[in-house]
Amino acid sequence: MKANYHTHTQRCMHAIGNDEEYVLSAIKAGFDELGFSDHSPWKYDTNFVSGMRMPLSQFDDYYESISHLKEKYADKISVKIGLECEYFEKYMPWLENFIQEKKLDYIIFGNHYYQSDEHGIYYGRAVRQERYMKAYVDDCIAGMKTGLYSYLAHPDLFMRCYDRWNDYLQSESYRLCKAAKELNVPLEYNLAGALYNECYGTKNGYPNIDFFKVAAEIGNDVIIGLDAHDNEDIEKEWYYEDAVRVLDDLGIHRIDTIRFLR
Ligand SMILES: [Zn+2]
Ligand SMILES: [Zn+2]
Repeated sequence: MKANYHTHTQRCMHAIGNDEEYVLSAIKAGFDELGFSDHSPWKYDTNFVSGMRMPLSQFDDYYESISHLKEKYADKISVKIGLECEYFEKYMPWLENFIQEKKLDYIIFGNHYYQSDEHGIYYGRAVRQERYMKAYVDDCIAGMKTGLYSYLAHPDLFMRCYDRWNDYLQSESYRLCKAAKELNVPLEYNLAGALYNECYGTKNGYPNIDFFKVAAEIGNDVIIGLDAHDNEDIEKEWYYEDAVRVLDDLGIHRIDTIRFLR
C-alpha cells in the first residue's frame, strides 16, 4: 500500500494548495491512502497566538472540509483526518480530550518546541546546546509514552543544528531509538527535509543517514512521511522512490500504514 500521513493545509499559514488539490495530487501520484495532519491548534493558558499552526477557531472548518473530501473521493482514495501535535506536558489533558471529542483518526508527533511555543524555544535551533538536545530526546520519550501518537515525525530534527555527526548525537540517538522500539512507536523518514536540502543545496538537516543507521541497528519500524506543505510535493514521486531505496539499503523494516485511534 502507498500511503502518506503527513500532510499540511493552508491553515497553518506556511503551506500552499487547497485541501482538494492535495487529494487530487495524491490520487495522481498513486496513493491508496492520504492522511491530513496539519499543525495542531492548542488551547493556551495565555493569549499567545502562534504563527505556524491553525487557530483553534479553524479546526471545525478543517474537519468538515476533510470529511467532505473523504466522502467525495471514497472510490478513489482513502482519506484520514489527523493532526501533527507536539508534546506540551501541561496541555496534554486538553489535547487528549480534544482528539477524542473531535473523533480524529490519528495524530502524529512533531516535537518542535521546548515546553510550548509560547516561550519560543524551537528545538530545531536550540539543540545546539547539549541541555536542549537532552530535553528534545526526553520530550520525545515522554510523548511516545502517552501512547497517543501513531508515529514520531522527523525524529532527527536536531540535525538542523549539526553539519556532522558526533558521539553525543550517536548516544542520544540510541536512547531515542531504543525507547521508540520498546514503546512500539514507528519513526518517520521525512521527505520535506530531503526536498529542502535539495532546493537549498544544504547537506545538514534531516533525514540523516547516521541517525537511520542507528534505527537500523535497533530494529525500529520506519515510515516515509512527505510532510507536504505544497500539494505538488506529493507528485514528486522520485523522492518517495529514493527514500524506499535508502531504507532498503540500510536493511530497515519499513512500514506503510499506521495505528489509528478508532
Ligand atoms: Zn509545517
Ligand atoms: Zn509536518
